[in-house]
Amino acid sequence: MKAIISHDIDHIKVTEHLFRDLIVPKSMARMSMELMSGKISVREYILRWSDFFKNKWQNIDELITFNNVRGIPSSFFIAVNKGVGLNYSNVSALLWIEQMKLRGSEIGIHGIEFDNEDAIKKEYDLFSSLTKINTFGIRMHYVRNTSKTFQLLENCGYKYDTTEHSFKNPYKIGNMWEFPFQIMDGWIIENGKSWQSRNLEEAKQSTLKLIDKAHNENLQYLGIDFHDRYFSHSFQTWLDWYVWLIDYLIQNKIEFVNYNQAILELEK
Ligand SMILES: [Zn+2]
Repeated sequence: MKAIISHDIDHIKVTEHLFRDLIVPKSMARMSMELMSGKISVREYILRWSDFFKNKWQNIDELITFNNVRGIPSSFFIAVNKGVGLNYSNVSALLWIEQMKLRGSEIGIHGIEFDNEDAIKKEYDLFSSLTKINTFGIRMHYVRNTSKTFQLLENCGYKYDTTEHSFKNPYKIGNMWEFPFQIMDGWIIENGKSWQSRNLEEAKQSTLKLIDKAHNENLQYLGIDFHDRYFSHSFQTWLDWYVWLIDYLIQNKIEFVNYNQAILELEK
């Protein structure tokens, strides 16, 4: 089994949310609740305030540096459309896309449209024209999908999608590869709540169970989604969990590939 690590970019700046959605007050409510329930420290609480003042809700550079040091390919999904609490502009996205390109990251779309073929195609064409990338993949924001979504993505020309959450090997829908993924940071640490409900040790134990399950199901690839937003001391448990997981996989001799490398292997 090899691992594919990917990152969804849901936020870039704090100000992109002001007067547009309720993410900022919701984050404040969440951090207060996490502090009172003892899930986060006073230091984390203060650091989250400092993120507001720094207007910084992404940790892309820091994450690429960490991945590079550990020899892990960085795959990012970044949006060119707004929706469901994702509100950054194409200008902001493009600045980071240039950084990711310079640092050798694999880049795909974080999709907003999931049930209308014309709207999906519009996102596809916009991403292609903005990034000058011709073949690329997608993961839907909040993994939204209907029974038709994957076929619509294939119709629009996507090389791969990784929205499906299941313990299945990659499979083809027409010309498109579907890469089901198994582990997402939020599912582990929030565990069905809208705030951190597990501590680091509980998060590790539930992750180990999922890795065992992937082994038992003979999966070729273990798909892991970690949001760059949480690669920060403001989210200490999330940061420690990601570092622990990567080191655990390295110690267990799991190789890392990105989606394009996996497709080359699958099509050999
Ligand atoms: Zn997202």
